[in-house]
Amino acid sequence: MHNYSGLFIDGAWVHPSGQGTSMVLNPADEQVIGQIPSGDLADVDRAVKAARRAFPDWSRTPAHERGAYIQALVDKLTIHREKMAALITQELGMPVQWCQSIQVDGPINGLHSYVALAESMDHVSQVGNAQVYREAIGVCAFINPWNYPLHQLIGKLAPALAAGCTVVVKPSQETPLHAFLLAELIESIGLPPGVFNLVSGPGALIGEAMARHPDVDMLSFTGSTGAGINVSQSAAHTVKRICLELGGKSPLLIAPSADLEQAVRYGVNDIMINSGQTCTALSRMLIPRERYAEAQEIAMHEVAGMRLGDPQDPETFLGPMCSARQLHTVRDYIQLAQDEGARLLTDVDAGRSFDRGYYQSPVLLADVDNRMRVAQEEIFGPVLCMIPYRDEAQAVALANDSPFGLSSAVWAGSTTEAAALGRQIRAGQCFLNGGAFNYQAPFGGYKESGNGREWGEQGLAEFVEIKAMMS
Ligand code: NAD
Repeated sequence: MHNYSGLFIDGAWVHPSGQGTSMVLNPADEQVIGQIPSGDLADVDRAVKAARRAFPDWSRTPAHERGAYIQALVDKLTIHREKMAALITQELGMPVQWCQSIQVDGPINGLHSYVALAESMDHVSQVGNAQVYREAIGVCAFINPWNYPLHQLIGKLAPALAAGCTVVVKPSQETPLHAFLLAELIESIGLPPGVFNLVSGPGALIGEAMARHPDVDMLSFTGSTGAGINVSQSAAHTVKRICLELGGKSPLLIAPSADLEQAVRYGVNDIMINSGQTCTALSRMLIPRERYAEAQEIAMHEVAGMRLGDPQDPETFLGPMCSARQLHTVRDYIQLAQDEGARLLTDVDAGRSFDRGYYQSPVLLADVDNRMRVAQEEIFGPVLCMIPYRDEAQAVALANDSPFGLSSAVWAGSTTEAAALGRQIRAGQCFLNGGAFNYQAPFGGYKESGNGREWGEQGLAEFVEIKAMMS
């Protein structure tokens, strides 16, 4: 059991003012694996005040010293990477086959890149008679989702520390344990008190209070588009900077010139990893009409080889959904797909044979029209919409026919052809012929997928104010 009774505020584990606690369940067997405190408004205020007190010294700490703290955290996380991965498998349900490399090693890699980027804060540019300085934006509040928990937290924390900001963090209620472990590691590297503060509790209470707080200068929110709109409205009256990283319904455009087998297999793997609980998941596969039947065969064959089950089993590809709520959402969408006239290519009920746990087997939907709700709304489950297209112009139009614009992918006969198609898609990322995720490249959405960027230089810019001094 991972039991936490304190919140990490001002460099110490403190007794919360909030009286409540909440349980953390293992979605694989529904057993309680931990307990965390539920903070209240006084806890948020205490954490913001601590971050405010710490800000002047931290923001004036030489950039290379802030970089050294980031390096120390890289070293600690590296030592504890297996423990962190095991914890995330337990609270999220992501199988051990993927969890360490995707949920822990990737974020460590991203964190490391900010050791050097911290030094760029010292850069002063000359514009005529003006010297232009980069300064930390101030006290930042982070609200995070449950699906890539450490990744989301590091994607905000690393640039904030590099810039010289102080932070208050609220993890999701479903997967908070990684944040408590991270707080312990931060405590052990001796980060100055108040630079990092952790307050857990329900989004509608704690997240809302952080968004409204007049002494928070910047809010970085990752989560659903609906909650992102709510926090923006709450934050608006204090004119703080708001960085939103929201949902997606990303297309994989398979060009007629593509190696169909490679492209379809890539797309099926992409949506099924983490049981489709990935903001960038390629949930809409756009397929040339004349090869539509062939693509269905390849997809069915690929899915047949994916084992659903215990995330601790190294052979497991799909673990459980993160929560009962998420499982019910996905099941409702499977029913809706059938009501809308989509055709099921897989046994969607295989997950029901488990006695315990929130299991959903992979779902392939054929005969999907892009205007159906299952093709327009984010399902956040292992559900692939297979959509035929007539010609290239229609394929691009379908790719862009979405309220979202987070990610996308193109598979074509050459990278040059794929890039030409990718430039026509309105999304913040585009993966060409299976290109890998890059922790130094900017990440973020167009349209209702958000308004900010994380990772790399652009991720740092979210935490920077610009000052011009004229002489
Ligand atoms: P969610 O919106 O329900 O919750 C996200 C966070 O916001 C949680 O910490 C929650 O407690 C908090 N919250 C909820 N309502 C709030 C409110 N009214 N005020 C303040 N805080 C509130 O999302 P989720 O179910 O945890 O995560 C899944 C969503 O996150 C999906 O839509 C997914 O696409 C998105 N996501 C986006 C990215 C990205 O980088 N764009 C990455 C991961 C997940």
